[in-house]
Amino acid sequence: MLEVFAREIPGMMVKDGTPLIIGKIQPAPYSIGASDIDMALKTAKNLSSDFKNDSQILSEDKFQENFKGIKAIITGPTTLALSSRIEGFYNKDKKDKAIIDLAWALKKEAERLQNAGAAVIQIDEPFLSTGIADLKTAKKALEIIVHDLPQPTSMHVCGSISEVLDELLKFKVNIIDCEFADQSKNLEALENINLKGKKIGFGCIDTKTNTVESKEKVAGIIKKGIELVGEENLIVDPDCGMRLRSREAAYSKLKVMVEAVKWLS
Ligand SMILES: [Zn+2]
Repeated sequence: MLEVFAREIPGMMVKDGTPLIIGKIQPAPYSIGASDIDMALKTAKNLSSDFKNDSQILSEDKFQENFKGIKAIITGPTTLALSSRIEGFYNKDKKDKAIIDLAWALKKEAERLQNAGAAVIQIDEPFLSTGIADLKTAKKALEIIVHDLPQPTSMHVCGSISEVLDELLKFKVNIIDCEFADQSKNLEALENINLKGKKIGFGCIDTKTNTVESKEKVAGIIKKGIELVGEENLIVDPDCGMRLRSREAAYSKLKVMVEAVKWLS
């Protein structure tokens, strides 16, 4: 999530696996992720053989009827800047300036992803739960990116968010997406929460192991979420990190998630 942007954004580079900020940050001259959106849309249109053979999930007709679009994901400016070593141009006191310049560069990418057909733009800011990010600068940077974007916007923050959820809900996005499968404290944080008109992206699948959980277990977590914030405010998804799972495990886990939702509705 870091290198893919650090490799392409002018002013950044990757050296020995570490992202560096080496000069004035500028928007990339081309889109970094538009071709991925294009590929995902084509895949959705033509359905993979996995999907076709698994009529338990959705028939092809039903899939096309229910298909809502592709979520495009951008690594947030705060997370990118705080994960990078700053060498030149921005010195230590100018980290905030680097975050804001990254926001302008990523805004351009968000617009390109939107033009490529993304239905939702999500900014991933895992650093906002670590306690080391300045939430005021992070909020300002995020608002630069999402300002004037017509698509629904989402911000993903993983890990323990119980200390910062109230602040995150002040960010100007439509969805706050967090992990709840493996974070019981995060569930507690939803008690009596004022969502301020936002929806909760509700991670309900454990992505830490390849072991596939039972439908009952996942349904139990979702049910708790419904009780806390209401069905209309919940967007069910997996916790983050699915990329580290085997393809079989990832597929089975997503299938359990869909079955759990069907079972509850
Ligand atoms: Zn995450």
